[in-house]
Parts: sequence; C-alpha cells; structure tokens
Amino acid sequence: MIEKLDHIGVAVKSIEESMLVYTEILGLKVTDIETVEEQKVRTAFIPVGESKIELLESTSPDGPIAKFIEKRGEGIQHIALRVDDLKQKLEELKQKGVRLIDENPRIGAGGAKIAFIHPKTTKGILIELCER
Ligand code: ZN
Repeated sequence: MIEKLDHIGVAVKSIEESMLVYTEILGLKVTDIETVEEQKVRTAFIPVGESKIELLESTSPDGPIAKFIEKRGEGIQHIALRVDDLKQKLEELKQKGVRLIDENPRIGAGGAKIAFIHPKTTKGILIELCER
C-alpha cells in the first residue's frame, strides 16, 4: 500500500549553499546530513510537516546526481512515496510489467529500504518507493 508522499528529492550543486533557501528564507530546519557512498551522494533532509525535502549533492563527477545536473540543471530529481511493504509492492509492479531500476530493495539514506521505478514508464518522473 502507498501511504503518503515521503519526500521530494532535489538535485543541488552544494548542500551548504542550497540549504540556505530552506533555512534562511523559509525558516525550515535541516535534521540529517549523511553520505550514501554506494550512490555517490550526500543527502540533507528538511522536514516539512509529515513529508520532507531531500537535498542531493554528488560526491563524484560521475555520480547520478552530477549527471542529472549536467543534463537538466539543479532542481527536482525524484519524488518518493512511502509504502508499507516494499518487497510486495515491487512484486506487484513486476507482475504489471513495470520497468524498475531496482528489482530488489536497497538501503538508502536514513537506513530506509528504497527502490526506483524507471522514469520511462512513469512519463518522465523518477519515482522512489521507500519503506521506513
Ligand atoms: Zn529520495
């Protein structure tokens, strides 16, 4: 079951620079900054009510976030939907013939189980499913 919008992922060149938009201008707070080496990304989470904004900064010029910024500039990179059972949801999608980037859950920022659906099958929106 899909429970809610968990977070919106925003690709940024610099977390330190971009976070000022949310802290100085909007008065929000950054709660967690973390590096997920496997995905070549540094993340910062900014809670907004029940959802969050996730800032994503590449740790390497060949990482997915660096490539995204090169092609499309800084901006919204993915939306993440919270599910109660990620494994089951992935099975369901596979049976529907949905193209997945991750066939199996992997561990993302904050220890969440995550998997991405291929944007080719979702009209250009990169959708992350996550289970916390
Ligand atoms: Zn995310």
